[in-house]
Amino acid sequence: MAQVPKMNTPIKCKKPTPMMAQYEQVKAKHADCLLFFRMGDFYELFGKDAETASAVLDIAFTKRGDTPMAGVPHHAHENYLAKLIKAGHKVAICDQLESPAEAKARDGYKAIVKRDVVRIVTPGTLSEDTLLETRRANHLMVLTKLKKEYAAAWCDISTGDFNVQSLSFDQVMPAIARVDPSELLLSDDMATEFSSLRNRATIQEASFFDLNNTRKRVLGFYELSSIESLGHYTNAMITACGAALTYIQFTQVNVAPRLSRPAIFETNSAMTLDPSTIRNLEIFESSMGGRKNSLLHCLDNTKTPMGGRLLAARLATPSQNIAEINARYDQIDAFMDKDMRQNTQNLLAQMPDIERALSRLSLGRGGPRDMLALRKSGHIANELYSLCEKAKNNPVFQNYLTTLNNLEALNAFTQILDRAIIDEPPILTRDGGFITKGFDEKLDHFKGLRDSTRQIMAGLQKKYGEITGLSSLKISYNAIIGYHIDISAKQATPLLDPAARQDEKLSIFIHRQTLANNIRFTTEELLELEKDISKAGEEALKIELELFKKLSREASDLYELYKLLSFSIAQIDIASSNAKLAIERRYNRSNINNNTIDFDIKEARHPIVEQALLSRGNRFDPNNCLFDENNKLWLITGPNMAGKSTFLRQNALILLMAQAGLFVPAKSATLSIADRIFSRVGAGDDLSSGRSTFMVEMSETAIILNQATDKSLVIVDEIGRGTATADGLAIARACLEYFHDALQCRGLFATHFHELTQLEQNLDHLACYNLAVREQDGEIHFLHRVEKGAADKSFGVHVAKLAGLPPTVTRRAATLLKSMEKNAPKEALPLFDTALEVHEKAAHPAVEALADIDPDELSPKKALELLYKLKKL
Ligand code: ATP
Repeated sequence: MAQVPKMNTPIKCKKPTPMMAQYEQVKAKHADCLLFFRMGDFYELFGKDAETASAVLDIAFTKRGDTPMAGVPHHAHENYLAKLIKAGHKVAICDQLESPAEAKARDGYKAIVKRDVVRIVTPGTLSEDTLLETRRANHLMVLTKLKKEYAAAWCDISTGDFNVQSLSFDQVMPAIARVDPSELLLSDDMATEFSSLRNRATIQEASFFDLNNTRKRVLGFYELSSIESLGHYTNAMITACGAALTYIQFTQVNVAPRLSRPAIFETNSAMTLDPSTIRNLEIFESSMGGRKNSLLHCLDNTKTPMGGRLLAARLATPSQNIAEINARYDQIDAFMDKDMRQNTQNLLAQMPDIERALSRLSLGRGGPRDMLALRKSGHIANELYSLCEKAKNNPVFQNYLTTLNNLEALNAFTQILDRAIIDEPPILTRDGGFITKGFDEKLDHFKGLRDSTRQIMAGLQKKYGEITGLSSLKISYNAIIGYHIDISAKQATPLLDPAARQDEKLSIFIHRQTLANNIRFTTEELLELEKDISKAGEEALKIELELFKKLSREASDLYELYKLLSFSIAQIDIASSNAKLAIERRYNRSNINNNTIDFDIKEARHPIVEQALLSRGNRFDPNNCLFDENNKLWLITGPNMAGKSTFLRQNALILLMAQAGLFVPAKSATLSIADRIFSRVGAGDDLSSGRSTFMVEMSETAIILNQATDKSLVIVDEIGRGTATADGLAIARACLEYFHDALQCRGLFATHFHELTQLEQNLDHLACYNLAVREQDGEIHFLHRVEKGAADKSFGVHVAKLAGLPPTVTRRAATLLKSMEKNAPKEALPLFDTALEVHEKAAHPAVEALADIDPDELSPKKALELLYKLKKL
């Protein structure tokens, strides 16, 4: 079971009332959560919880004795929950498990209603639309370590997706960056090893990850007798999956969500992106924060939530599998036909979120509109089927047809829903009124009874009006006293006058309430009728809720088929929306191969900058980028603002998009699959984890130098700017030599250290390029054109002028610059002395590892291990 962290101090009451004693008991078991304690129509919070909630929710707190207390209305609690969850809190929902009447019948007048926690709402275990972002998966992620192996399991209970991966130490942080979990669970020793995670993770004690218990949990959840039937899981993977399931069952308080069997995520199947690359390439968030202006935002033209989520997943895991990538391109090509594309997109635009509706229904939290969503998805799937049939000569549509054909069983359920659910049902099941007339005989019987008694009520009102001769008499209803006879005070006198009441006809009226303007009565007959109405209503509601449960179970039984449908929809959505982008924005299909060097992109643009420029009426100037054996590390110089960063990133983004299976903003692209893209760009500090700007820069550089291979693409926008010029230049040069000699990767290296361009003579496959500018009448014009050769100036003072530095400062800077240029020798730094020109070639890491061993000392087992290690290097 989940650990219970110590937190809130208990509420100090000298002698707690029985209800507060009950509260404290529940609170003690959920000390790390805010406790929503149901009292009538409100969820109340007490003590420190009340203070926290009132600060986050901006609601007043009152006092109950000495104890702070705040409440949120039950009917609107989801809105408040959303704010608390966003603020990083967990909330335990403690409900009343019986009605006050039931409690009274059980224990007499002083009985306390039974209450207990029915669910713990945490950021990683949400299912409600109001609490979730439509286009973002909501992952709970568990990281474990068993002996020397690390493993991650991540699942999204709102869609049922569940994945597991075995990891090396180096892969842990990229996995977290890729999954981007809403909630992370770690053991204490993992949190010690990865201390930067401690603040964002829920720490569980070691027993939570016990191999035996977690194995049992997995077997139990999937009702299996052996783990092998799930696939080849390592022990670390089992602990990660089991711990995730334990936590989910703990938070859902034994309501088991539908989760797919954990799919093994093969590390080599996807390109690895480390956290700084994801951040620097602004894949999911722009550097200013938020989704706007990110790559995902720029490319997400999908029509369905499933399509939007799958697109995000593909950008997080660009494929390394050529067949898979080409199959995705084929799908995009299939939607180049305008009619096909438009008809498909029109249908998709009406497609509801199948996955999340289904998840809520299987968790018992669904509403009639979730049923409607499944029904609609069934109809749209059929219309899509007809569309695909028209184009079945194309193998892509033939494939869709095969998948949709497998969904025959859904049609039967769609038809049931057609008959069962009214077209505009209420949001909640609570009050009934969503099952169609004619669907269930018994239900119709009780509804008929209820409604006919209403008619009788109208007859009764007429009868009482005639008996009394009072025109104001009417039968009304309110929740407190139920049905009653309402008469204006002026007219009611005869019914209150004992003499008048001698009349047998008037004696039937029993006084109930006197208000300022009205007087209320009832009769034995009315009381009987009311009983009949409420009995019929209660019975009808009971039947309706039972029918809903039954339909939810049937939907849940179709889980696998609905998942298949939603995956097909998501694929079609991405393909058709990318085809639309391709036409509107002139994106093209790439040629992907398995060589190591190919990188030939013609007339390429930066997808985000191009759109930003277009929105301001400006044009993006395209550029080519071509690597070959003698030319696969580019050193790029050029003035500030000339477009170096843009050029670097556009090439990395195009490779990433191509491997994600999307068309790219270029006239053509021939690309060898990359195992990783590394991006080191700009400068920023990370004060929260105690790292200065330069330290961040060096840490990111270290990751690249230690992990890049000859199949990687590295883009480096400045190294060594965060320290003294000589140190910086020395580091930059050493890194460049290492990329060239040891890693032999493809790379783009932008720099303002113009001295580095001299290295072109020493390093065989280093080539210098620059971003051209035109100088005219003392002004410079950026041409944004990448040309062979090195730049010799940075024009920093000019850009400073453009940025609005006071003229006194820029004039002075220009004078100083002139005098420095006059006095300083062209090569001021000793780093390029001839003595240093002949550099000692950096050894390949495999060579370095070999140098460290003594073959005579190796056992056969050690030798074999070493071979594997060398192969990896
Ligand atoms: P610095 O050295 O100061 O970092 P930089 O050379 O890296 O500058 P970028 O940041 O890439 O310059 O580009 C500056 C601006 O120039 C961009 O924000 C964009 O508006 C424009 N720009 C860059 N490349 C192009 C291009 N190819 N076509 C049109 N505009 C471009």
